[in-house]
Amino acid sequence: MSTAPPLIRAEGLCKDYVMGRNVVHALIDVDVEIDNGEFVAVMGPSGSGKSTFMNMVGALDRPTRGRLTIAGRDLAELDDDEQARLRNETLGFVFQQFMLLARTSALDNVKLPLMYTAMDRDEKQQRAEAALNRVGLADRMDHNPSQLSGGQQQRVAIARALVNRPRMILADEPTGALDTATAEEIMGLFGALNAEGVTVVLVTHEEEIAEHARRIIRFRDGRIQTDQRRQAA
Ligand code: ADP
Ligand code: MG
Repeated sequence: MSTAPPLIRAEGLCKDYVMGRNVVHALIDVDVEIDNGEFVAVMGPSGSGKSTFMNMVGALDRPTRGRLTIAGRDLAELDDDEQARLRNETLGFVFQQFMLLARTSALDNVKLPLMYTAMDRDEKQQRAEAALNRVGLADRMDHNPSQLSGGQQQRVAIARALVNRPRMILADEPTGALDTATAEEIMGLFGALNAEGVTVVLVTHEEEIAEHARRIIRFRDGRIQTDQRRQAA
């Protein structure tokens, strides 16, 4: 493999949630490295820590203990603004429930992450159009989410994740709300993006979905239970 630092390096990563008198140990001593260009499926039973792991890696929340390095930068050394910038420039997020703004066109949804960038209007327009084009929605740019199918809405969300040209896409159960055929299409899209060099880390419950990935990390009770590399399907 390359000598570049891993895109993600977690060392002794722990996350506790304090609930009144109780503490939930959502992540316990997680050690893992994910390299540039990987395609990883994160699996495990409900409550095993998958979303917590994704939220840590996405710098959406801070670990309780341990070290997390993203693209060579120790997240603990970044203040909130610097974390936000790293998030915006390095990562794209995709969620099960799409998280699109209603009554807002596909095009404007995709432009949202560009709001914080110093880019002129024409370039924002071009970027957003290119991202929608990339996900096969060139002819749906003016549609609102309610005028799109579930699969199309998830494509808009993927276009929004791509618009800043991130190195990595983090997707938490991106096919969980889709029928099997649509889920396969969306996985085909993630596969194509990965083939173009985007690192993909996605959570799924389904073995058939995970078979698109080349590595499967299984969580159980907040720990990594197995970490297997495999041939792409
Ligand atoms: P998964 O995504 O694998 O279903 P999660 O990472 O969401 O699991 O949750 C791991 C554990 O942490 C569960 O026991 C869950 O109840 C708990 N948990 C997750 N988020 C919170 C939170 N914000 N506050 C308290 N407990 C949480
Ligand atoms: Mg979850």
